Amino acid sequence: MSQYWSPAVRHLTPYVPGEQPRQRLIKLNTNENPYPPAPGVGQALRDYATDHLRLYPDPTSLKLRETLAETFGIRPEQVFAGNGSDEVLAFAFQAFFCHGEPLDVPEITYSFYPVYAKLYGITLRRHPLNARWEIDLDALAHHSERSGVIFANPNAPTGHAHSLAAIEQLLQRVTDRVVLIDEAYVDFGAESAVALIERYPNLLVTGTFSKSRSLAGLRLGYALGAAELIEGLQRVKDSFNSYPVDSLASLVGCAALTDKEYFEACRERVITTRERTRQRLEALDFDVLPSQANFLFAQHDRLSGGEIFFALRERGILVRHFDTPELGNFLRISIGTDDEMESLIEALDVICR
Ligand SMILES: *Cc1c(COP(=O)(O)O)cnc(C)c1O
Repeated sequence: MSQYWSPAVRHLTPYVPGEQPRQRLIKLNTNENPYPPAPGVGQALRDYATDHLRLYPDPTSLKLRETLAETFGIRPEQVFAGNGSDEVLAFAFQAFFCHGEPLDVPEITYSFYPVYAKLYGITLRRHPLNARWEIDLDALAHHSERSGVIFANPNAPTGHAHSLAAIEQLLQRVTDRVVLIDEAYVDFGAESAVALIERYPNLLVTGTFSKSRSLAGLRLGYALGAAELIEGLQRVKDSFNSYPVDSLASLVGCAALTDKEYFEACRERVITTRERTRQRLEALDFDVLPSQANFLFAQHDRLSGGEIFFALRERGILVRHFDTPELGNFLRISIGTDDEMESLIEALDVICR
């Protein structure tokens, strides 16, 4: 606390990210990709240092937005690019959810949403998950007085994804406000709602290069939606920082998008490892929720989440443990390489015996 902080800053509850260890641990706690980015990224970096580093970037990130538009089969004016999807989400909260009514959100979802809500003075209406740990889309759509709807699909930290058909049903019911679907994990097995943006002008889909494109360090994210929504985001951006995406990030992002073969191979590898790990965890008496993301959400029959978390940490393996009453026994385990997952299973075999 400082006397110099404004009352608003004093009352914030900032998001706490997963730990980034200094020593070399097996890091399975923040859902990064275990494989390097596409090979084209290296060459792009060398060219860049020579030609571009001293200049300001394009404030509209046009090249990157064109490449994203091509990737998703939409138009560049339906694409917004930002400095990580966290920033894009923050802009979206400000652009679309500050209406004075509550924002409908699942009770268990990405824990940054409540942080932004508090930052912008938005109240939340939180809807419990159903008995299968799935987002209750009916409950999200049920109310009429709302400033919007937001959820992650696949959801975090559960890994469950709703089908495109279920999401379209929600969009048929919520037409007055923005429905924001955070697709940070969609490439690991779920259906993208991008196919619906042409028909639903209030649908905004966000995505990130941090997970399926192996570029968490670059900070690159995007939003896809009707041109009027994208313009709303641009208005916020240009009132805050007109150059959020640096030229290096644009360049590397384009190189990653262009190498489709690498992308496919890499995500398939993660999916295969995930399914193998899931079976092996079940054999060790874990209850593992089905996942369409690059992590597994699991709890053990007998041992608490906290116990397993600390025992793994002692063995140099980091997973995510959310110390809340609802999630207390669950661990969120990012999918690493096969070798890393082998070490995890070996350690758990000892811990859970
Ligand atoms: C990782 C994650 C993000 C943040 O992505 P960045 O682009 O790295 O900021 C957003 N939403 C969800 C659900 C995530 O898991």
